Formats: sequence, C-alpha cells, structure tokens
Amino acid sequence: MENPNENLVANNFIKTIITEDLKVNKNGGKVHTRFPPEPNGYLHIGHAKSICLNFGLAKEFGGITNLRFDDTNPVKEDVEYVDSIQEDVKWLGFDWDDRKYYASDYFDKLYEYAVQLIKMGLAYVCEQTPEEIRANRGTLTEPGKPSPWRDRSVEENLDLFERMKNGEFEDGTHTLRAKIDMASPNINMRDPVTYRIKKMNHHRTGDKWCIYPMYDFTHCLSDMLEGITHSICTLEFEDHRPLYDWYLKVLKTPCHPQQIEFARLNINYLVMSKRKLRQLVMENYVSGWDDPRMPTICGFRRRGYTPAAIRNFAERIGVTKAESIVDYSVLEFCIREDLNKVATRRMAVINPLKVTIENYPDDLHDDELDAINNPEDQNAGSRKVKFSKVIYIERDDFMENPPKKFFRLAPGKEVRLRYAYFITCKEVIKDANGEVVELICTYDPASRGGNSPDGRRVQGTIHWVSAEFGRKAEVRMYDNLFLTENPDVAPEGKTFLDNLNPDSLKTIEAWVEPALMDAKPSEKFQFERVGYFCADSIDSKPDTPVFNRTVGLRDSWAKMKK
Ligand code: ATP
Ligand code: MG
Repeated sequence: MENPNENLVANNFIKTIITEDLKVNKNGGKVHTRFPPEPNGYLHIGHAKSICLNFGLAKEFGGITNLRFDDTNPVKEDVEYVDSIQEDVKWLGFDWDDRKYYASDYFDKLYEYAVQLIKMGLAYVCEQTPEEIRANRGTLTEPGKPSPWRDRSVEENLDLFERMKNGEFEDGTHTLRAKIDMASPNINMRDPVTYRIKKMNHHRTGDKWCIYPMYDFTHCLSDMLEGITHSICTLEFEDHRPLYDWYLKVLKTPCHPQQIEFARLNINYLVMSKRKLRQLVMENYVSGWDDPRMPTICGFRRRGYTPAAIRNFAERIGVTKAESIVDYSVLEFCIREDLNKVATRRMAVINPLKVTIENYPDDLHDDELDAINNPEDQNAGSRKVKFSKVIYIERDDFMENPPKKFFRLAPGKEVRLRYAYFITCKEVIKDANGEVVELICTYDPASRGGNSPDGRRVQGTIHWVSAEFGRKAEVRMYDNLFLTENPDVAPEGKTFLDNLNPDSLKTIEAWVEPALMDAKPSEKFQFERVGYFCADSIDSKPDTPVFNRTVGLRDSWAKMKK
C-alpha cells in the first residue's frame, strides 16, 4: 500500500534557518519572502510547492510575502500569463495583499546601480559577441580569457553604457559586464553579463528600454529593494549565490537578503518544464493550459483537484536539498483524502448492463429510496432516488462464471443494490455474438432500503441507475498524459512527445442518477464505487452535464507497478 508519510519532513531545514535568525533578531525579527514567477507560462505543480513554501513560511513566522513578476526578458512574456498566475496563487489560498511587484518597476533603479558599478571600476562595456564571450569563458579546469575591453576607463564605460541605453548599438554588439575574476573557479563569477541590448517591446515598459538587466543582477537587487529577508529558490541557483552576494556587497546596499536553495519538485509521469508544457499547448496535444491532463494548477483545478489537497501535498513531501522524484500516487493520495471529506456521493454507471426485474410491478413509478449524500459529513443530508423495473448496473459487477471470491452478481446469486433491494439473477440474455446484453432478475420487496428482511446475508453491494429516471451524461475518463515514468527521457531521435499516452482521454456516455443533472460547474462528486469526478468548469451545463474523472477510489498505480 502507499505510504505517503515516508516522505514527511516534520521540520524542514529552511524553518530551522529562520528560527535561528529570529533567535538572534536578524532582520529585526522580520520574515519577508517573495514568490518570483517569470510570466512566460502558466504555473505548474512545481510552482505550487514554491508558493506553499514562501507563503507558508511567512504565515508560520508572522511575516509577509510579495508576488513579484520576474519580467526582465521582454521576449516571451504576456499579460495572459500575468493574470493566470495571480488567479492560481489566490486559488491556492494565498494573498500578497497590495504587494504585487514587477522587476520591470525597478529598471530605472537598476540602471543607476549599474552606473554605480561602472563608477567603482567594477563593470565595463564589452564589445565581444555572445559567442566570443562564451568561447572565452573557460571551463571548469581552465580559467577564462579576459576581454580586450576589460580595462577601459570609467569615462569611456559611462559614455558607452549610456549610448547602449540610447539605442546607438545593435543587439549582440555590446554588453555591460561585471568586472570580477576571469579565473574564478565559479564560472558565474567570470565577468558575468549584467546588461544586454534587446531592441524589443516590453509588456510593461513598452519601448522605453532597449537594454535589459540580466536575471542575477536583477534578482538580488529586487529582493533588496523590497526588503526581502529570505530569498528562497531552487538548487540550480546555488552556484549563482556568490554573484547574488557580490552585487549586494559591492553596492553596499542597505540590506542583504539571504538566498536559500531547495530541491525542485519532480513527479514521475509528469513533465514540468514550462517550455515543454507550452509545446503541448501550442501544438495541440492538449486542449489548452487548463486541459485536465496538464500538471498546471489550472489543469488540476479543472480536473477537480482542490487547493487544500495541493497544500497538503506540498507539506507532506517536505523541503530538502536532495533531488528526488515524488511518486504520483502521493499526490493522488492527498486528492482522495480531501475529496473523501468534501465530495457529494452519487450513483453513476460507467459501463452499463441492463437489468430487468421481472417481479417488480409494471405500474410502480414512485418508489423513492433514501440515499446518503456524504457519510463523512452529517450536514450533507440525504436525497431521494427513484427505483424502477429496469435499471443499469456496471458490466464489471456481473460475471457469468465467477471465481469463488466474486461477491457481486452471477447466475443464481443474490446481491444488494445500494440503498434499494436485494436482487437475484435468474437469467442471462445474450446477443448473436454471445455477448451478455441483459439480465433478468427478481427482487425481494421485503429488503427495501437494502436491509436484510430475515437475517440472511448477502456479501456484495453494487450501485445502479434507474433506466426510467436516470439520464445519460458525458464522462471524460482521464488517464496519465505520459506512458513512461520519466517522460523527459526519450530514445535517440525521439522526444518527450513520443512518450505521450494515446489513451489519456476516453470520452464515454454514462448513465447517471437524476440528481447529477443539476451539477454546478466544478462541483465535486464521488460516483460511488467508481471514483471522484467533477463537473467540467467550462463544458458542463445544467441538464447536459459533463464530468471529468479526477482520480480513482484506490491507488491504481500501486497495482500497476506490481
Ligand atoms: P520552469 O523550469 O518550469 O520553466 P522556472 O523555474 O523557469 O520553471 P519561474 O517562473 O522562474 O519558473 O519560477 C518561479 C519560482 O518557482 C522560482 O522561485 C522557481 O525556483 C520555482 N519553481 C519552479 N519550478 C519549480 C519546481 N519544480 N519545484 C519547486 N519550485 C519551482
Ligand atoms: Mg526561471
């Protein structure tokens, strides 16, 4: 069985750092974090981990969190992404109050800091092409070669940098580089580019700028300008930390946030790179960023996942410095755990088999039975479900030649219909191909409500939908989007797209009980014995509901791996 608790980290190392900082009254006892997405795509479950961590830590320690759009790259950014990011953070249950910032808000200040670096003799305008810069950077074992422009005078650098800003030079001809150490064992410290020319329109600053600051320069100064105390990021930035600290130190900034790195979230069977997710959307492998098979927050939302479940998941997997891959079943465990509490129970038959109850009165059309809406929630109450002479049951709940331990319906066997009656199978009707098309049964009127009239036991209980009162509804049976545990790995000549699961969506027509006809968009249900479903937030309409399968009732993944 699954044991998600094995990943549980009670007290993560970042909490320990913050606790120590608070003890010595570092930062005046303040905790101020930020979530800094680049608005170049929709947020995914990996971002959810970062959101829960940043907002969660601040909450726990009485601090605050900023939302900051890291929009230094004018190429791929879009207002659509800015809007969706805010929607998703809020949906997860977090709030930045009035602290929504954009790195681009700081472009003027950053420019001034760059001028200061030049004046201190710590930055220079370099005329090497990006290729030359790369070629001269050296390797892990060899130092880099200093740029021929490294020793220009401060005046010349100030003049050239201003002319870069004024648009006198073309893209790729000039950069501003920090003058640090071309022989540093850390390649990030080998005179990193601080500004580059990009004659491009920016979604917020328009055509004001044709030079844009690089991430490393922007990030530490944005953190500093916002008074961030703990700047939490993923492990790939560990080697950038010396540069983060260098800029703040040489510029003698009034405060110096602490960068702390943690291992990013990886989950098997999912891809989590925005570039790949964008490709799935742009090339129509999925219906959009919010396709219920996408590991995006909006995809999970449409699939029927809940914010509480995702927050629990983030807590459960913990925070470490060691890279690992979390099993998808842990996420599904958290979804089920939450849906079990909140989902309304209903009956739906996914793969119907007709059952006629021969001794049920032909003229009985108002036989209303009581059905409980949610055994986990007393307040959910009950509903009436009408029974009828002809019903549908799940094809899987009948076997003509059952093995010994099969407790559902079989010729001559008796079974309980949930909330209704005991029925016994008398006759099996087949079509010309030998396929079972109908069962003729009898019922025991004295077992009304599903209660044994005389103490006799039936072992199986199955669900059903009335053929007279039930309705047909579209159900989208989602399965994992990729067939392989690590979809990013593909054989020579293939890509992650070759690992797509061709059967990740099967649309079927199910028989559902009438109460499901009024399903509200996004409403969550447990189809008893089948799984968790939700009404699609876009396509489901009153009287023509559409249901998405959120997750099965049990861990089907554990079974698969055996
Ligand atoms: P991707 O690699 O998917 O494009 P990214 O890191 O470029 O993601 P950003 O928008 O820069 O995306 O990320 C915003 C924040 O979310 C960053 O602090 C980043 O470290 C964090 N983050 C991104 N992916 C993950 C992940 N898989 N697990 C934890 N945190 C993540
Ligand atoms: Mg990034």
